[in-house]
Amino acid sequence: MSERIKSVCIVGGGSAGWLAAAVIAARHRAGHPDDIEVTLIESEAIGILGVGEGTWPTMRNTLRKIGVSETDFFRECNASFKQGAKFARWASGAEDDFYYHPLVLPEGFPSLDLASFWNHYATGNDSVPSFSDAVCFQEAVCEKGLAPKLITTAEYGCVANYAYHLDANKFAQFLKKHCTAKLGVRHVIDEVDEVALAGNGDVSHLVTRRNGDLRADLYVDCTGFNALLIGKALGVPFRPCTDVLFIDRALAVQVPYDTPDQPIVPYTVSTAQTNGWIWDIGLQNRRGVGYVYSSAHGSPEQAEAELAAYVGPAIEALQPREIRIQSGHREQFWKGNCVAVGLSAGFLEPLEASALVLIELSVEMISAMLPATRETMPITARRFNEITRYRWDRIIDFLKLHYCLSERDDSDFWRDNRDPATIPDSLREQLALWRYRAPGDQDFSSNNEMFPAASYQYVLFGMGFKMDLSERSYLVRDTGRADEAFRRTAALKEKWTRTLPKNRELIDKILEYGMARV
Ligand SMILES: Cc1cc2nc3c(=O)[nH]c(=O)nc-3n(C[C@H](O)[C@H](O)[C@H](O)COP(=O)(O)OP(=O)(O)OC[C@H]3O[C@@H](n4cnc5c(N)ncnc54)[C@H](O)[C@@H]3O)c2cc1C
Repeated sequence: MSERIKSVCIVGGGSAGWLAAAVIAARHRAGHPDDIEVTLIESEAIGILGVGEGTWPTMRNTLRKIGVSETDFFRECNASFKQGAKFARWASGAEDDFYYHPLVLPEGFPSLDLASFWNHYATGNDSVPSFSDAVCFQEAVCEKGLAPKLITTAEYGCVANYAYHLDANKFAQFLKKHCTAKLGVRHVIDEVDEVALAGNGDVSHLVTRRNGDLRADLYVDCTGFNALLIGKALGVPFRPCTDVLFIDRALAVQVPYDTPDQPIVPYTVSTAQTNGWIWDIGLQNRRGVGYVYSSAHGSPEQAEAELAAYVGPAIEALQPREIRIQSGHREQFWKGNCVAVGLSAGFLEPLEASALVLIELSVEMISAMLPATRETMPITARRFNEITRYRWDRIIDFLKLHYCLSERDDSDFWRDNRDPATIPDSLREQLALWRYRAPGDQDFSSNNEMFPAASYQYVLFGMGFKMDLSERSYLVRDTGRADEAFRRTAALKEKWTRTLPKNRELIDKILEYGMARV
């Protein structure tokens, strides 16, 4: 009889650890005698990173699946709606240079190739609206500071697709409460001092400071940058990608609102700077703001000065927190009976909030593929490693796309980002094809894609990329359906900018009355 997998031990209680515990326990009903036993051990002394405040829309489904109420989530996590990202000064660097990566797909996508028609109309005609504004109503909703739904819209439902901004520390507390009270997760507060290995290279047990030895059939390393199991104990090498993505420092501050009724911006603002970019995330009672930059291109003093200029006089009362980043990931994510999730598996940079979504996808995969026996674990591990590696590569390409198309010439940071030697071959190939046609589903044929072709379209055309359709003029000959789609977008804009409430107004109502339950 093979060794059955009956227990999972998650080490680390940040977003990765608690999401892993919640998703595995919710599916495998931890706490019942015949079910999988899920334990999470975390060190209060070490604490969690406590940043990472922007999510993807996938988080709605994750929260729904683990059985939490969206109203409770808003009330306890200082949460707000995120309807995509506004990228300011990334293309030319001019004051009025911006584009959106909204979360609503272009009208008619994917059956209608509206991008080609927009390119056709916009070439040589400055009066045509920007791509994101022409093909989707969400930019207009964002520019007016509106919410993505009505108070009558059910929990997790929407008028315009949305994700969240959240307080990372509160989110971990919220998940902890749900996991321990509702999902039967055993919670141990202690330090893991040593990871003991078995003769076959598996993790045999964890030596803790106060609770003796902890044993499990599967270990999930969520120890953050510490990478205690996957890195330190199992020696899986780290694969840097600093030759492609140059960000290696963050300066983070929490900026209080001037007044309690200050509008909450319903999207992440990402403003390009001399040697990186500043994120700006509006929560209920404060903004999370941070400058991520390349220390090889600019000094900490220069970064502090640019952050201060961005935040304004409020910076005087704040002490920016420095966080060091090395962009890259592990060469393997699952080795033996240990799988790494979250920062222990790797981190690139905060752009496009790709870390939390990768955690969600990884824990969903672990939970769905959870091997029944130790004997079958290597098959699961190999598949998990292949899929996860593919996902990291696609994220690297997509993040680099934001940088390599910039025309900014004010620093080596931007010039180096344009250098073809720093652009992965896979992205260079795509860009060569997209000179003559828009990104489409055929360019992203795996079941494990991270970003849909629509996301590439928003960034590509937002950054001013132009296609030459002269060889394929038939693509834009039949303008009837496209014109109808442009008219539909304009009508949706008119309707929703008239009907949707202000973002803060809706959030205040949710806090007071709650959302309609599903
Ligand atoms: C500047 C910055 C901005 C970011 N912004 C975003 C964003 O907008 N969107 C997004 O999706 N992601 C973002 N991220 C990434 C995001 O913060 C992380 O993916 C997320 O917080 C998950 O962290 P974690 O749980 O892996 O690690 P951590 O939060 O560091 O948790 C590690 C846990 O391991 C425990 N631990 C460590 N060693 C031991 C030990 N020996 N014994 C016991 N316990 C131990 C700690 O106590 C802690 O509980 C950002 C990251 C950075 C650096």
